[in-house]
Amino acid sequence: MSQMMPGTESSHLELARGLAEFIGRSPSMFHTAAAIRDRLDAAGFTYLPEPAAWEVLPGGSYYTVRNNSSVIAWHVGADLPADAPYHFQLTAAHSDSPSFKVKSVPELEGAGESLRLNVEAYGGMIDYSWFDRPLGLAGRVLVREGDRIESRLLSVTRPVALIPSLAIHMNREVNRGFAPNRQVDLCPLFSVGALARGAFDAFVAAELGVAPEQVLARDLFLVNLEAPRIWGAAAEPEFISAPHLDDLMCAYAALEGFLAEPSERTVSVYACFDNEEVGSNTKQGAMSTLLADVLARVNAGLGRGDEDLRRALAGSLLVSCDNAHAVHPSHPEAADEGSRPVLNGGIVIKEAANQHYCTDAFSRAAFIAVCERAGVPYQSFANRSDTAGGSTLGNLSNMQVSMHAVDVGCPQLAMHASYETAGARDVELAVRALAAFYASDLRIDGADALTLA
Ligand code: ZN
Repeated sequence: MSQMMPGTESSHLELARGLAEFIGRSPSMFHTAAAIRDRLDAAGFTYLPEPAAWEVLPGGSYYTVRNNSSVIAWHVGADLPADAPYHFQLTAAHSDSPSFKVKSVPELEGAGESLRLNVEAYGGMIDYSWFDRPLGLAGRVLVREGDRIESRLLSVTRPVALIPSLAIHMNREVNRGFAPNRQVDLCPLFSVGALARGAFDAFVAAELGVAPEQVLARDLFLVNLEAPRIWGAAAEPEFISAPHLDDLMCAYAALEGFLAEPSERTVSVYACFDNEEVGSNTKQGAMSTLLADVLARVNAGLGRGDEDLRRALAGSLLVSCDNAHAVHPSHPEAADEGSRPVLNGGIVIKEAANQHYCTDAFSRAAFIAVCERAGVPYQSFANRSDTAGGSTLGNLSNMQVSMHAVDVGCPQLAMHASYETAGARDVELAVRALAAFYASDLRIDGADALTLA
């Protein structure tokens, strides 16, 4: 539950600070899921593990996780129609961001008695943004305790690695264009003589307070240790910069919107999926059965049959929330001439005729109606007609569980750099838009008509 009155000067800074804190707690997708769970626990939600039997009651609030990296939470309205069709109102964001992952054989010995970490890319990042900055590590480690194997979160917040540039004197052409090779240029320096092969796993074990032989496996990623900052010369700071704004800005805004005051006549669902940056086609990604499984179990838990589920899905709307591109101050030509979102201008509705964004006229109309009734601004994004553009969660999730869906996101600069920038005010504008969505009762009838109740 938000503690402040939305729409005030202080509320936008307070929500920007809330986002900064959330990002600070979420250096990996496993930590993102843990931060979301902590917020849900504090709000009184009940954890239903996937292997357990579920009891789902009207008025109840629940969540489940898969792989400890994807989370789905839901609130069943207390006034859900008892003998009539009901429906879901959902948002989906993603918990992961591009980074470099340490391989299971973690070290490379090299020149100058150096030991480098053997890493490979997770997702498509701007490689040069990872050079010459202190790096930490975060993720999960599988630890043996007797006959039991347990997963432990690990976050190393002091610098332990760095990717050094080659001096300009040794590469005079560097400012004419630099194409780093990921095997050659991007494996970070870990030691220059003090540590030898085997040191990495010994270090991981020591960080966890276990013996080296207890460490069986790990999913560990490099972390840019530059802290989130809210900044700007204006009296009210205009900017927020941080690692992982894509997509933790939407994951946070959707969570705050979800927890604000959802309609008691619908089932409100909040989803945060792992693996969007590598295609979503994993057991816990947006293309997995996770959402379909949860919605089917919620429906059964409410004592409804398969026919009721089909009817519910036909009347449901998914808001797929993934950050959008603001117009770049030095490169307006990179954006479509007609749709150039600005920082602090509000949430962006994204469209693509090829349907890589799932927005269509109906879902767009529904989302605009929600924003306009709440008095919240919104913007539009489309790719340049000669540019392929990206894709996101909505159309992929729709392959497993199909429903009306619209793609939105907060405008930002430098997407997939290791340190990204967005508008500080846009956090609150997104929270207000998504809170208004959850507070509404969108009664869809027929194939493409609705009443905003
Ligand atoms: Zn994203």
